Amino acid sequence: MTRKVKIGKITIGGGEKIAVQSMTNIKTSDIDATVAQLAALEKAGCDIARCSVPDNASAEALREIVASTSMPIVADIHFDYRLAVKAADAGAAKIRINPGNIGDESKVEYLAKYLKEREIPVRIGVNGGSLDKKYKNIPLAEAMCESALEHVSLLEKHGFYDIVISVKSSDVVNTVKAYRLLASKCDYPLHVGVTEAGIYEKGLIKSAIGIGSLLCDGIGDTVRVSLTDDPVKEVYAAKEILKAVNRYDGAYAEVVSCPTCARTCIDVQGIATQVEEYARKLDKSVKIAVMGCVVNGIGESEGCDVGVAGGKDKSVIFREGKIIATVPNSEILNALIKEIDRI
Ligand code: SF4
Repeated sequence: MTRKVKIGKITIGGGEKIAVQSMTNIKTSDIDATVAQLAALEKAGCDIARCSVPDNASAEALREIVASTSMPIVADIHFDYRLAVKAADAGAAKIRINPGNIGDESKVEYLAKYLKEREIPVRIGVNGGSLDKKYKNIPLAEAMCESALEHVSLLEKHGFYDIVISVKSSDVVNTVKAYRLLASKCDYPLHVGVTEAGIYEKGLIKSAIGIGSLLCDGIGDTVRVSLTDDPVKEVYAAKEILKAVNRYDGAYAEVVSCPTCARTCIDVQGIATQVEEYARKLDKSVKIAVMGCVVNGIGESEGCDVGVAGGKDKSVIFREGKIIATVPNSEILNALIKEIDRI
């Protein structure tokens, strides 16, 4: 079991709910745009959001940004410990910084003391693409793990233990290996993700394999899906990954639909898409099936609470495998939604 770390109002680690994270992808100094994007992330179900703080203007903007949202905001800092101090003053709930990159020991000591007094945790985020040269002869997974633990020891030396770690690479296999290794060597909570995963479809697959594999191993206390796309999609993707590995905390509706074949009688794709949109708003546990034919549809929907199986002009609505109504194909969506609402 990992230790618990508090990030503002959210606690991660120690068996707490796995928190979904995302990151704004616009200039943090553009307060209005950042506030709007954070609102969209929060509405989508994001628990913790990160903003880059590359300069003073961003650090200063953070105060208003933090005040605008109820999500804990993580300030992403590279190299400059003074920006970390400014972000902490502005209300950041966590600082992402690698202490080995901020200069001499006195700076690490100062920052560790400053953040400890304010109970602000640090995420050490090792990225496989920017490892120190001294690791170049070590296999990537081992190198990422070793680098992370070296950053950790710099903070521990100054009595700082409020640490979250990530070891991300764009290579899924090495990312998984690195996290497994890290989980066997420390009990700090792990922020899991595959970095620079790519544009939507590719990023989804890489993230689902990487994050999903780790979650199946019981590794991961908070997740971030990285997509070259709207960050709101990262939140939806993260939630789907959690659901797929039975780690989603809370009730939700699941839609299953058949792949369609020569027996298909109805617009399975169109209906399933609309049902999915409806189901996303539900916070009750219900499994819904959209199946293309009555021949196999009902039998193959075992375990579903409610569903439709298509027929030539009329289709059947069923509950727990038993037909309860026959409706014209133009009425499928309405009839199905009515039944879903009854559950
Ligand atoms: S449920 Fe029917 S239509 Fe869908 S794939 Fe199976 S056999 Fe084909």
